[in-house]
Amino acid sequence: MTTDEKHIEAQQEAKLFFSRFLLEWYHLQKRDLPWRRHRNPYYIWISEIMLQQTRVDTVIPYFNRFIEQFPTVEALADAPEEEVLKCWEGLGYYSRARNLQHAAKQVKELYGGLVPDDRDAVFGLKGVGPYTAGAILSIAFNRPEPAVDGNVMRVLSRYFLIEDDIAKGPTRVKMEKLAAELIPEGEAGSFNQALMELGALICTPKSPRCLPCPVMEHCAARLAGCEASLPVKTKAKPPRPEERMAALVEGRGEHAGRVLIRQRPTSGLLARMWELPHWPAPPAEAGGARGALLPEAAALDRLRRSMSQAGIHARPEGHWMAAEHTFSHIVWTLQVYRCREEAALPLAAESRAVYGAAQAERADGALGAQPAEDAPLALFDSGDAAADAADSGAQRWINREDMKNYAFPNVFLKLLNSYFDEQGT
Ligand code: SF4
Repeated sequence: MTTDEKHIEAQQEAKLFFSRFLLEWYHLQKRDLPWRRHRNPYYIWISEIMLQQTRVDTVIPYFNRFIEQFPTVEALADAPEEEVLKCWEGLGYYSRARNLQHAAKQVKELYGGLVPDDRDAVFGLKGVGPYTAGAILSIAFNRPEPAVDGNVMRVLSRYFLIEDDIAKGPTRVKMEKLAAELIPEGEAGSFNQALMELGALICTPKSPRCLPCPVMEHCAARLAGCEASLPVKTKAKPPRPEERMAALVEGRGEHAGRVLIRQRPTSGLLARMWELPHWPAPPAEAGGARGALLPEAAALDRLRRSMSQAGIHARPEGHWMAAEHTFSHIVWTLQVYRCREEAALPLAAESRAVYGAAQAERADGALGAQPAEDAPLALFDSGDAAADAADSGAQRWINREDMKNYAFPNVFLKLLNSYFDEQGT
């Protein structure tokens, strides 16, 4: 037998060993998770989308609440978007919740409300990529489709000592091919879940637990002593920092005990979610350092002008706290200022008129005139046009009880809860 033939035979043996012992281990050790108690494709789909962004322990209560509120594809398809976002609140990646609802409408209209047992149809659903499609098809319908995410690529990189960069597309394709070859006949659902389970419990990113690992005997990285340095993965670009000033406007008179929130635009970052009004801090004056505060007087002046431009009549009173919100491509540092309502806030339509007038002024200025020295803060380019356009959105005065009617990104949820905690309400 040639060296090549011996190598191929050894690889084949390692593959058979992997599939057999991993599956045996899974049948004995698998965790009892709510979405594993049924083979309901809808439940599997929801759980897989939620699991893409957070840990199992966090997902379980979200999953149970979601299924209780939207027990079927039709229920999700027919729900108001605000309710879906509210149910998703705290999980982040809200576009995934929107895509999920969009795809539920597709399933309702095209497939009578039943998640299709068909590769092309599942791939055609909005927000369903190769991993989610593979998970649905294999777990719900036992189709021999690979479901390869970062966890699975880590396990395969180590077991087969693959040193290709897992951040690169061709590596994923190679891994999908390998994972498909490993699926034992008639065991696609269990095998794919076993791979995910191994990555979550044993072959973890840091300090893999090789001793209790069911496949350690043939694991090439462990045998070579390099399991800790795999997988190879080039680092993603760090998110771009952005300083912003936020207004926590406390109401008075008929708005006493309430604070002002506004709705973001219908598209773009965090579309249609609710937040405290905020604007970019001018970089030159932010002192350069991340999270640096403007001198108090300058900050309050900037904020007053930004609010006025947005039709918010309030007096900034002082810095309250700083908060951070990280997206995949951007990280906001928010300096939050407490402000006091000065006069009744115009209705949303009036606010828009004020905003529209300000925009017209800006357009005039852009045609030649230099910006006035006291140019409104929103003239600074934040890179987040949607956030700044939110000045034209709806505004509401809310107390803690009202929070249940609006979906907030995490950072604003925490800020509002902190504020109402401080107030003892
Ligand atoms: S032996 Fe260690 S490195 Fe290899 S698959 Fe198991 S846990 Fe991962």
